[in-house]
Amino acid sequence: MDRLLIVSNRLPLTVQERKGELHVEPSVGGLATGLSSWYKSCNSMWIGWAGITPKKMKREKDIMDRLLSENCHPVSISQQDIDAYYNGICNRTIWPLFHYFPLYAQYSEDDWQAYRRVNTAFANVVAGIARPNDVIWVHDYHLMLLPRLLRERLPKATVGFFLHIPFPSFEIFRLLPSREEVLEGLLGADLVGFHTYDYTGHFLDSVHRLLGYDSAMGQVVVSGRTLRADAFPMGISHEHFSGAVGDVKTQAERRRMRKKLGDCRVVLSVDRLDYTKGIPERLEAYSEVLSRNPKYRGNVIFVLLVVPSRTRVEHYVRLKSQLDGLVGEINGRHGTIGWMPIWYLYRSLPFHSLTALYSLADVALITPLRDGMNLVAKEYVTTRTDGKGVLILSETAGAAQEMGEAIMINASNQEEIIRALEQALEMPEQEQVRRNTIMQKRLRRYNVVRWADEFMDRLAHTKKLQRDLAEKALTAEMQRRLVNDFRDSDKSLLLLDYDGTLVSFSPRPEESRPGARLKGLLKKLAADPRNEVVLISGRDKRTLERRFGSLKVALVAEHGVWVRKKGGQWETIDILSGDWKEQIHPMLDLWVDRTPGSFIEEKDFSLVWHYRKADARLGELRARELINSLTSAIAGLNLQVLEGSKVVEVKNAGINKGRAALQWIAGVDWSFIMAMGDDTTDEDTFRVLPATAWSIRVGVGASAARFNISSPGDAISLLTGMASGR
Ligand code: UDP
Repeated sequence: MDRLLIVSNRLPLTVQERKGELHVEPSVGGLATGLSSWYKSCNSMWIGWAGITPKKMKREKDIMDRLLSENCHPVSISQQDIDAYYNGICNRTIWPLFHYFPLYAQYSEDDWQAYRRVNTAFANVVAGIARPNDVIWVHDYHLMLLPRLLRERLPKATVGFFLHIPFPSFEIFRLLPSREEVLEGLLGADLVGFHTYDYTGHFLDSVHRLLGYDSAMGQVVVSGRTLRADAFPMGISHEHFSGAVGDVKTQAERRRMRKKLGDCRVVLSVDRLDYTKGIPERLEAYSEVLSRNPKYRGNVIFVLLVVPSRTRVEHYVRLKSQLDGLVGEINGRHGTIGWMPIWYLYRSLPFHSLTALYSLADVALITPLRDGMNLVAKEYVTTRTDGKGVLILSETAGAAQEMGEAIMINASNQEEIIRALEQALEMPEQEQVRRNTIMQKRLRRYNVVRWADEFMDRLAHTKKLQRDLAEKALTAEMQRRLVNDFRDSDKSLLLLDYDGTLVSFSPRPEESRPGARLKGLLKKLAADPRNEVVLISGRDKRTLERRFGSLKVALVAEHGVWVRKKGGQWETIDILSGDWKEQIHPMLDLWVDRTPGSFIEEKDFSLVWHYRKADARLGELRARELINSLTSAIAGLNLQVLEGSKVVEVKNAGINKGRAALQWIAGVDWSFIMAMGDDTTDEDTFRVLPATAWSIRVGVGASAARFNISSPGDAISLLTGMASGR
């Protein structure tokens, strides 16, 4: 792989000052821990803030050398800018807004200037380090302007961006004063990744509504460059957590804790101190469970691990005192001399203590009001290698989309949390194991390495798509050549799709009628005896007859079911069959694997992938991917892919536009052939053309066509050029 530059707010190493001395320590947090082993296995560098000011860093050269020796490149940021950028825009504006807490969001123009300055400082450092073939992967909400700043400095660079927090719905996102700048910043990337399909959809929706760019299959075209937005649910380092259970340190820690806990059953929660995590709501529900169920008093302990966070932001300070009060009150109300209902730990625990707690906990109560992903939920289930334990998870955590076997709750509904806790404490072991086994299997497969690899693969794929499209653009020079070829030819075949090629799509198909200009153009081309014009459409034959029946053109209706030669009658063709299923079945199996709830139906002459029961958005996106992959996989197999209502069907290509086109191509010595089309059904036409034919795809997308133009407007201009002056 080419060199990888990972760019994030913090480096995986942090420089800390203690008693006037600087120390280098590993950074805490999901990204640094999750990616540390993966990034060391690649040829990579990490660029980020080291945690102290440049002045202090300069004092100690060996600290700088230590960072560089670990491939970490610090970005210099002044203390003033850190306050305004990190504590200001990042944590007082973007964080609350993107987590659906608009009332907590404050905005200051001065802070925004600092956000810009810091993003620019990052861009300058990255641009100074980057070489032409490097892959640059930018992370998270601190650096949303960076992709565009990099694009300005390095127009050809490969840039990926991943957002680790939710991307909110348009109604929330629109409240951000600098919203357009953020979107334009992100669109500088080639691939923008999110944890879930919902976030991806929200982003594309905002791009459409605020900047006017349409998207198709997650692809957006900005200034002629095609980029992609997609979902990549982040996993955890599976071995790290499942392996910890057998570790002596974890076991010793577990024994020590068990001694203190006695026979009590353990409900656990682990969060940074954050208002998005729903901690007070969770405590109140637990208190209510104790009030309603005296049998749990003295037998259950809630271990509440809260990691200090953003202690300089006022909402966090306030939450801390709210929690202190609540814990005191609940312990005071329900506690006895020998039993404290809540063990409250306000600190960060080392890895072995954390995994000991995971392995002890009978219930993990994870109820964020909003969370981009929530890695703790995944870590808990992975650490419980005995398969026991119950995960309660709120539906507003990104992880909920992959952990459907957890007890799912609405974190704003106290009664639901209470019932979930009661259900969890009573759940038979067999049922616990059943649920966890399914989730563990998924977590093993979608670990953090797979997440990173999938992102990298998709980024490379997007770059390839861009290259293919650039190579295929029908330039002015090529257009001139095409028109000259046509003028010189005394036997020309024009195979033209209608919808999306000669006219733009309308919300209602009956509205996309051919205008007088198009009709005049077709009439002129068809009237020339040297030309054969064939309109190949998916439309029914009556519509085609009504619109073009009076012209001297041949018509193909319903993708080739009906054919009407020039001056002839409508005729239909026979269906073929074939044996190809062994080859395609494994591919569909992979999609069943990747899309919970989907399944395969096998018929005599077709395979059908059904996704009605899958999560709606995931199903739609996976269907797009499947259709894309199938389209190239079936090349030469004489098959066709049809998209139905929540199904994708692969069947014998008895009937398609290509087969219909062959009726004109075969056995005739054309001196000029041109085909134009805009969608997958036209690919069949492109594929049967001789290599010298002019095949033109209208719009972006992978295609067998040799050339690409942007819109039906371009198609009409081209035809106009051909029709004039012959
Ligand atoms: N964590 C930790 N020490 C602790 C508590 C938590 O290292 O004492 C880690 C935990 O293992 C997890 C991360 O902090 O990987 C929290 O990530 P999550 O996605 O759950 O929440 P975030 O803090 O990113 O909002």
